[in-house]
Amino acid sequence: MNRLIALLFSAAAAFLAGCETVPISGRSQLILIDDKEVSALAAGEFAKMKKLPNDPRLAKIREIGLKVVAAARPDDRAGVLPPSSRWEFAVIDDKTPNAFAMPGGKIGFNTGMFAFTPTDDDIAVILGHEVAHVLCRHGAERVSQGLVMAASVAVADQATRNKSQSTRNAWMVALPAVAQVGVMLPYSRAHESESDKLGLFFMARAGYNPEAAPGFWSRFAAKGGSKTPEFLSTHPSDSTRIANLKSWMPQAKAQMPRRP
Ligand SMILES: [Zn+2]
Repeated sequence: MNRLIALLFSAAAAFLAGCETVPISGRSQLILIDDKEVSALAAGEFAKMKKLPNDPRLAKIREIGLKVVAAARPDDRAGVLPPSSRWEFAVIDDKTPNAFAMPGGKIGFNTGMFAFTPTDDDIAVILGHEVAHVLCRHGAERVSQGLVMAASVAVADQATRNKSQSTRNAWMVALPAVAQVGVMLPYSRAHESESDKLGLFFMARAGYNPEAAPGFWSRFAAKGGSKTPEFLSTHPSDSTRIANLKSWMPQAKAQMPRRP
């Protein structure tokens, strides 16, 4: 029992020490892991990917990506974004329509994504969204959520020590599932929505047309994006996402550089 109390206390202390605030959204988030550790994990994953260094579209990805990073910098009060020279961009040899940004400044753009990005504005929609994930430290937050889940399993194991084996088994099966639906998914949806909003602002500041965003996500949804009902998906439903983007449009447009 003493061990259980000690575990709960250390979890509470870590929780209090680890609360940070996300730029613009103001949401509180739990960060229990150093950004450098997450960046190192990410760099290891990035190194394994099949990159196409001679793809003629790589220069475009880098150009738009660096503009979006520069546009995000005014909101980087915590100094999360690496300097421009440290960002790495890659076209990934993968037909799955996907793109990602990793903590530490690694951006990957799958070949399968280009079918959805006929214009620079479309590419800026994706890169704005991905850079926002990095700025908001969503990677470190997800790892932290995983640590909390692991700790809660350990606490339940301790708490049910004297119960029957079947009760203990039920707990062990149920807890991760409860944590998944109750903690992981709402956070993940919050991450997606946060990145949609900040990404829209960053692309607008970088001089791209934010009106491209609802169109991009509609096309993406129509041709094989997530079809899962919102409740079970980690992504906002397509109609919610598009309605949100439209509601943020006036704010985004106000951030576009004035034409001379
Ligand atoms: Zn995302």
